[in-house]
Amino acid sequence: MMDFLPWQQAPARRWLAARERFAHAWLIHGRPGCGQMEFALAGAASLLCESPRDGLACGECQACRWVAAGNHPDLRRIRPDAQAVREGALDVAEDARKQPSREIRIEQIRGLLPWFNTATHRGGWRVALLYPAESLNTIAANALLKILEEPPEHTVFLLSAQAPDRLLPTLVSRCRRLPLAVPPAAESLAWLEAQGVKDAAARLAAAGGAPLLALEQAREGRPVVPDWLELFLDQASGGGDGAALADALQAGEPADWVDGFQRLWLDLSLGAHGLPPRYHPGQAARIAAIARNLDPAALARAADWLREQWRLARHALNPKLLADHAARTLLQSVRPR
Ligand SMILES: [Zn+2]
Repeated sequence: MMDFLPWQQAPARRWLAARERFAHAWLIHGRPGCGQMEFALAGAASLLCESPRDGLACGECQACRWVAAGNHPDLRRIRPDAQAVREGALDVAEDARKQPSREIRIEQIRGLLPWFNTATHRGGWRVALLYPAESLNTIAANALLKILEEPPEHTVFLLSAQAPDRLLPTLVSRCRRLPLAVPPAAESLAWLEAQGVKDAAARLAAAGGAPLLALEQAREGRPVVPDWLELFLDQASGGGDGAALADALQAGEPADWVDGFQRLWLDLSLGAHGLPPRYHPGQAARIAAIARNLDPAALARAADWLREQWRLARHALNPKLLADHAARTLLQSVRPR
């Protein structure tokens, strides 16, 4: 849990090498499923380690043992309760009537203030891990901004995010950016196969090259080609009013399928130019057939709509309405002119 993923080790060493003039706040960002959160956590462990090896956490010293056990006094994790529940760090049963929060609340930021005034273990770093940064609500983001304007001593903030453009711009401007690239496919494939993932190549392609996303989808037993995509490809070239597609979309998370449609849209525009699909090589024939007949202007309009929805999808007020609307307009936008 506290090691860098294989493709992260080289960039991590470069990042940690300049430890003496380290920024006090970092925004670690990249495409979903490429391991930003894992990078931030492993980064925290490396900063706290008492005898780092080649810049990275040794895994054996007292500090590393504390980090692994989740009780290092100089490490705080600030994340939504829903995320803590997923990690098994928070008991759902504590208050079963209430849905765990999906936001980082102001109390969590305020709760850090006394911690800044305590001495650190052996005078080392204090690390605040904050993820995903998109979960900061506006009030919490402003409280964090205030802290970063007069940063406490010996303290490093590691924020991990998938979409920096969803964050408060003033907050982003207080952080040094550390963009993480999509890892090389060969490294991702080797890693997925080592985790026992079947159909690793198809899964990786469908996940847009994001290995952690591919792993998650494999572990959840999701089909390589999701139901909604099958339905969409069938109905785009055939008939149907989109009702079945809307039902399939409603069964999923808007953020997931909006992201999925954006990948399909890229494949369709590649197809319109006679190029093979990047994300869905297994569906090449069906994608090409749709792409041959579509109206590029309608495709572009739908792409704009998808981009807009991608910003809003996490906070979809009415997922059913969104699914209905998406099914109708997206099907219409790819049907023959
Ligand atoms: Zn160590």
